[in-house]
Amino acid sequence: MGRAFVYVILGGGVAAGYAALEFTRKGVSPGELCIISEEPVAPYERPALSKGFLLPESPARLPSFHTCVGANEERLTPKWYKEHGIELVLGTRVKSVDVRRKKLLTATGETISYKILLIATGARALKLEEFGVDGSEAENVCYLRDLADANGLVNVMQSCSSGNAVVIGGGYIGMECAASLAINKINVTLVFPEVHCMARLFTPKIASYYEEYYQSKGVKFVKGTVLTSFEFDSSGKVMAVNLRDGSQLPADLVVVGIGIRPNTSLFEGQLTLEKGGIKVNGKMQTSNDSVYAVGDVAAFPVKLFGETRRLEHVDSARKSAKHAVAAIMEPKKSGEFDYLPFFYSRVFGLSWQFYGDNVGEAVHFGDYSSGTFGAYWISKGHLVGSFLEGGTKEEYEAIAKATSLKPPVEDLAELGQQGLNFALTISKKPQPALPIEVSRSTSGLVLEKPVYAWHAAAGLVLTASIAGFAYWYGRRRRRW
Ligand SMILES: Cc1cc2nc3c(=O)[nH]c(=O)nc-3n(C[C@H](O)[C@H](O)[C@H](O)COP(=O)(O)OP(=O)(O)OC[C@H]3O[C@@H](n4cnc5c(N)ncnc54)[C@H](O)[C@@H]3O)c2cc1C
Repeated sequence: MGRAFVYVILGGGVAAGYAALEFTRKGVSPGELCIISEEPVAPYERPALSKGFLLPESPARLPSFHTCVGANEERLTPKWYKEHGIELVLGTRVKSVDVRRKKLLTATGETISYKILLIATGARALKLEEFGVDGSEAENVCYLRDLADANGLVNVMQSCSSGNAVVIGGGYIGMECAASLAINKINVTLVFPEVHCMARLFTPKIASYYEEYYQSKGVKFVKGTVLTSFEFDSSGKVMAVNLRDGSQLPADLVVVGIGIRPNTSLFEGQLTLEKGGIKVNGKMQTSNDSVYAVGDVAAFPVKLFGETRRLEHVDSARKSAKHAVAAIMEPKKSGEFDYLPFFYSRVFGLSWQFYGDNVGEAVHFGDYSSGTFGAYWISKGHLVGSFLEGGTKEEYEAIAKATSLKPPVEDLAELGQQGLNFALTISKKPQPALPIEVSRSTSGLVLEKPVYAWHAAAGLVLTASIAGFAYWYGRRRRRW
């Protein structure tokens, strides 16, 4: 016994929501599309969980942040899916998939068959136990990947007002959570093994600016060491963390942000994997013609870099989903996915954006004391990445456009002196139409209020933070 659909989306996160909207725009008929998700709620804007959701006052709560409000599109409530004849199978884990026979088996024992499958299973948070540290089941140790985690974090946060929090990991989840906890008047210590925060994106100079800013908000940094064990009270709650450098920090709350792992296990041995994800072509199609993959789980060709990458950020999830649906519904009209990697952050009144790749030599520009500054990355004589803090809309658009054009750069000192003018000049020169939606990329998430938001670097940075963590523990290194 089972149901059959023309299109099945496996996973009900960000990419699933944007794919559903695109399916309706491309004319899917009622009854043709089904979304199966382990989460009990319709797709929502996951980045809200570490931002608006954690605000001490007027926090964001569903249904306000269902997709696709983050891109200023329609908000798809459960009613919307019903009205469009889209079947939402929620709170249901898919436990196996047979791509040859085009069938899925759910944990409730139902078989669902499809003609086309869109994999949008995202990723899961890595657990401390995977690196040999026990105790993350304690009620005051929190991870942050889904709504249940976010509710748990809010509960613990509320129970330890003015208490001590230890945040493990200096990547974007750690940085976002540290900011949110500080805003909630909790004493925060951020612990990470690298020499500075956001180590895979920030240069030491950029990092020191943000670390000083965080410190001015009361956040303490303990660098170059790692968590080795917890101390528990008689009720099993963590009351302190032990670090490898021999120190101990009191803790009423521990937040762990040590990276993620893409949810590929259902497809191992059935589809080609690469870079820890499911390999797709420029149409987001996997090694099986009837199966597409999008979002955090997909490893796709990034034309700009000339190589396959797996990115872990929301803009990529939204746009890859849209592209896959266009390729499914209008195969003759759709070209290759052409994407400029982009991430951004706003926290404590600060705001930065990054485009492209942070490889090669970094050239800093601007006045770091004025609050408007940045860096370009030059590789093989071309500009390949741009970072800007405190820019205007026009300036952010200029660095995005300049990065997408990969202009040649000969004199690095001269580039540093020109600073933003370099991107502004390049971007004003008449150019052939850009293949990417630069202006769309610069739009923020509606729910991510500027003061609290830390739309930081998923993609490269998060991928890198996983590697960093593996190195950090040096115990059970894995490749993904
Ligand atoms: C707290 C937080 C803050 C973030 N902030 C930012 C930010 O500011 N900027 C940014 O660019 N990115 C941010 N990200 C990353 C961004 O949210 C992800 O890149 C994006 O959610 C990826 O979308 P996705 O659809 O691929 O995966 P997800 O949104 O993770 O969705 C995957 C879905 O698949 C379901 N699923 C998985 N396996 C199964 C199964 N076997 N059966 C049924 N269902 C299954 C999951 O339950 C989930 O619903 C943040 C992430 C988190 C966790």
